[in-house]
Amino acid sequence: MPRPLVATVDIAALKHNLDVARAHAPGARTWAVVKANAYGHGLERAVRGFAAADGLGLIEPEGALALRRLGWNKRILLLEGCFDTEDLMQSAQHGVDIVVHSPEQLAMLEQTQLTQAVDVHLKINTGMNRLGFAPAVCRDIHARLRAIPAVRSISFITHFANADEDAHAVLPAAEQRARFESAIAGLGGERCLSNSAADLLHADCAGDWVRPGIMLYGATPSAGSAASFGLRPAMTLRSEIIGVQHIDRGDAVGYGSTFVADGPMTIGVVACGYADGYPRHAPNGTPVLVNGVRTRMVGRVSMDMITVDLTPIAQAGVGSEVVLWGEGLPIDEVARAAGTVGYELMCAVAPRVRMAEI
Ligand code: PLP
Repeated sequence: MPRPLVATVDIAALKHNLDVARAHAPGARTWAVVKANAYGHGLERAVRGFAAADGLGLIEPEGALALRRLGWNKRILLLEGCFDTEDLMQSAQHGVDIVVHSPEQLAMLEQTQLTQAVDVHLKINTGMNRLGFAPAVCRDIHARLRAIPAVRSISFITHFANADEDAHAVLPAAEQRARFESAIAGLGGERCLSNSAADLLHADCAGDWVRPGIMLYGATPSAGSAASFGLRPAMTLRSEIIGVQHIDRGDAVGYGSTFVADGPMTIGVVACGYADGYPRHAPNGTPVLVNGVRTRMVGRVSMDMITVDLTPIAQAGVGSEVVLWGEGLPIDEVARAAGTVGYELMCAVAPRVRMAEI
């Protein structure tokens, strides 16, 4: 019998969450973002869950080719563009759209003899200061792109730093949007700005395309709860109790004895640890569900196990179901307790964890 730890992906939840994203941006088309193996959910499941999307966006060139092999025949966008000439030729060959964000990528495009046309997305750095050209040079870059015979279309793209905070003091989304619009004023081409946070909170930024990621998987990029936006968890990480200990006041649990009982307790040992992707730094008190009842993790996270308080749960024992996150326990809540974000937890589910789907 395999170890009782499974990450189940709900394909209907992926579909539903895509509908929510589209409803927030009714006039826009949608790139469903599927980088990092669809945020840990699997590219093949994403292809089915996001069948209604207008395109899929990711950063891995080999992932783009995998999507074509999986039968995705709508648009694909490489969000960081091409890393070398081979990527560029393959992108053109497989009809994959590319971002151009640097002088090096522009030079590569100018110097490569492409026999197929390519759709290019000019990335503008509107304040994030990660990837993209400064607004001041956009017109020149646009002119150089237009001069390349293989370039079929030029769109514009930027990325928000703070769309989850309404009026961020340092760089509000509205400021980035204004810089974007002014950089491309008068240049024809489609516009794409919004990640999940902007899709949910800044309808005015929708442009021609939106690029949601995290919300499609049922987690939230902002302080609110995913459920309050009508999102459903796509991944549920489930395990079982594999051992039970009865301890007394003063007894400690796990490495470092970081938890000491203040009275008689029942401790359940769960088959899931940091080698499975459970966050090593999750503290005492991190929520878990046992038999559908909320309880808390106690003691340190080990490589293969965590320990939980079974004292309040009647009838819990070896074989009882444990939900680490997902259905009934929002991943955002677990992430917050562990000082991280739902993105990191989803992406970190380890290859040794079995994946299933409903
Ligand atoms: N667009 C780009 C360029 C990204 O890097 C990301 C993810 O970080 C997204 C869109 C999707 O963002 P989110 O998952 O916050 O919706």
